[in-house]
This record gives sequence, C-alpha cells and structure tokens, in this order.
Amino acid sequence: MTQTENTAIVMRYTNYRESDRMISLFSPVKGRIEANARGCRKPKSPLLNAAEVFALGDFMLYEKAGRYTVTGVQMIESFYPLRLDFDRLTVGTYLMSLCEAVVQPGQGAQELFMLLLHTLSRLTYSDQEWRPLLTGFLMHFSVLSGFRPRLYHCCRCGEEIPDGINAGFDGKSGGLCCLRCKTRGDEALSAPQIRFLRKSLEKPASQWVNSPDMHAPMGVMRRFVEMELGQRITGSKMLPED
Ligand SMILES: [Zn+2]
Repeated sequence: MTQTENTAIVMRYTNYRESDRMISLFSPVKGRIEANARGCRKPKSPLLNAAEVFALGDFMLYEKAGRYTVTGVQMIESFYPLRLDFDRLTVGTYLMSLCEAVVQPGQGAQELFMLLLHTLSRLTYSDQEWRPLLTGFLMHFSVLSGFRPRLYHCCRCGEEIPDGINAGFDGKSGGLCCLRCKTRGDEALSAPQIRFLRKSLEKPASQWVNSPDMHAPMGVMRRFVEMELGQRITGSKMLPED
C-alpha cells in the first residue's frame, strides 16, 4: 500500500437525509476528520463502497468553512471478508471504536494507524485466532496511548516479578502486583498470560498466538484499556469473555 496525504480509513458513519452519510475518518496525518458523503447511499453512487466502516482509500475532500465534503475516493481496501464472520467482525468494529476514542482532529497518529491496518489485515485474511490478536493490539494501543501497563515490577511494592511466576493485575495502580501484595479485588494472571503480554510488545502481530506456554489474557486487557479511556467502547459487550 502506498500511503498518500489523503489516505484514511472510515471508523464510523451516521446516515442522514435520504441518501447521505456523515463519515468519521482516521487519517494517519490529520487525525480524525468528519466529512459529508453526499448521495453515497444511492445504488449508483461512486462513493457507495467508500462510505462503509473499514473502507480504506485515498479520500478527496473539499473544505469550506471548516466543513469537509468527500468529492471522490480511490479505494485501497474494503476488508470485505470480515463481514462473513460474526466474531471477527465484532472485533474489527471494536478496534475502530478504540481508535475513535483516541484519535483527535488535527493530530496525526501514524503508528496507531499502522497497528490498526496490520491487525485488521490479519483479522481479515489470516486464520490467526482473534483473541490473541485483539490482546496484542490492546497492549500496543496502551503503549501508544500513553498508559503502558507495568509488567516487570509490582506496582505496589516495586519488587521484580520474574518470568514463570503468577501475579495479580490492578489497572488502577498501573499493572502487575506480586502475590504478596495481591488483594481480592485484583485480577489474577497466570505466568503464561504474563509471558504473552510481555512478548506481544516484542513480536510482530503474526506471532501473537495462543500457545501452550503463552495464553492471551484478553478480558484483563480490555477492562484495563476501557478503564484508562474512561468510557465503554462500542461493541465491547458483544465480545465473548476470555
Ligand atoms: Zn508487591
């Protein structure tokens, strides 16, 4: 994919009038952009496919008084097969909602954009299990959003937590807590789950997989990220627990 200044992906849309749509775009260079896609719901509209969630393309925008209108789109990818698997579609929608929660107008987010595209591609075109994919995404998302969880030292007493040891997880305190400090309110993480979280930051998305010695703690990461964002993310309730 060749990224241009106009490359963006549709995060969400809202229908209005008979055939129009307001689309919310994520541009790696310009951040979030709200744009009118006029007539895009007419069957013969050239914008028909470009005004769907996950539509990735080069969007030509006309600006007047701070309002944007889509005048044309060169489609790059629609991630169409995502729509054929309910669970994977739910995860994809959830990824878009997470991005929507952090991407701001006028603020580029190149790394997050690439993380999103890589994860969406694997979700759509690989048979990699979605739980570890989502968990790996959430780890990187936390780092890029400025709330990397502490994974090597207890967030209460500061003691090192070596590999192979179970621990607690307290999102409010910022990460792992050792078994001596763990209280009933903390989540429990097994040694393989902790290993997964640590490794997911070192390994590319293709290697975020559940294996006998690494198991993705999806629910713990979801609750952590949603607590940090301070909001319930659309689609979260649709995801099965881990
Ligand atoms: Zn401790």
